Amino acid sequence: MLLVTFEKDQDHRVGLLDRNTGWVLDLSQAAPDLPRNMTDFIAAGSEALVAARRAMEANDSARIAPDEVCLLAPIPRPRRNIFCIGKNYRDHLNEIKSLSAGGSAEPEYPIVFTKAPSTVIGQGQAIPSFLDPTGTTDYEGELAVVIGKGGRGISRTEAMDHVYGYTVLNDVTSRSLQQRHAQWFLGKSLDGFCPMGPAILTADAVPDVARLRVQTWVNGELRQDGCVGDLIFDIPSLIETLSAGITLEPGDIIATGTPAGVGAGFSPPKFLKPGDIVTTCIEPIGRLENPVG
Ligand code: MG
Repeated sequence: MLLVTFEKDQDHRVGLLDRNTGWVLDLSQAAPDLPRNMTDFIAAGSEALVAARRAMEANDSARIAPDEVCLLAPIPRPRRNIFCIGKNYRDHLNEIKSLSAGGSAEPEYPIVFTKAPSTVIGQGQAIPSFLDPTGTTDYEGELAVVIGKGGRGISRTEAMDHVYGYTVLNDVTSRSLQQRHAQWFLGKSLDGFCPMGPAILTADAVPDVARLRVQTWVNGELRQDGCVGDLIFDIPSLIETLSAGITLEPGDIIATGTPAGVGAGFSPPKFLKPGDIVTTCIEPIGRLENPVG
């Protein structure tokens, strides 16, 4: 199932997206007992999913046409920072070796940083590159994991049981701020620097996540084309590492890293500028497209 958050009557609601038609089933109408907030909906687990599926099959009247629905990011304001993994594709390591202290050496352990909840914007919203005074705004198309069942001390073998679903995320970065301040947070956490969505695809619809391709275009030019199977640290090891001392919670988001082809990897660099259109697509999850403002 594809879960979305949308705005109606100045209220946030959870819906089911029909990818073929673009119509959205308004769960606040079709199944009014279900939580209206995505994080609460996720925390309600498989029972909420079963009820949503039943509502989808039974209800035709609560559907909203594509041109009438205002989609937000599936989790418009995460309850805490988004966990992100740096340097997690070998080919990306290679392209940024001259920019990074570690060169092209593979990290021995996952490199973890975070983005603030206020970075999140939805499908179609403009990336505010004007907030980056250095003019070095860059894109990083990524697969993001959404945690369902929380927990601490989750082992590799049980990790996938904690994955609720997947979404598409752009880890937008000010390269100069990232490098200038050594710690990456500032360069990664400008307002609006995390487009996400348009939907969460539940994990049951993804039998083998390693086969998914992560592709990013700028103004129609293909820049990134990677395969999740090429991650240096795979999803189970990321969940094991993060949860070793931090209790993961329903609705937590893990951005798994970006493949080669970021703007900083070109010579000269191809940073984003106002008017550009950035598109990241991971089938069958969806296509995330944002203009640059
Ligand atoms: Mg990244």
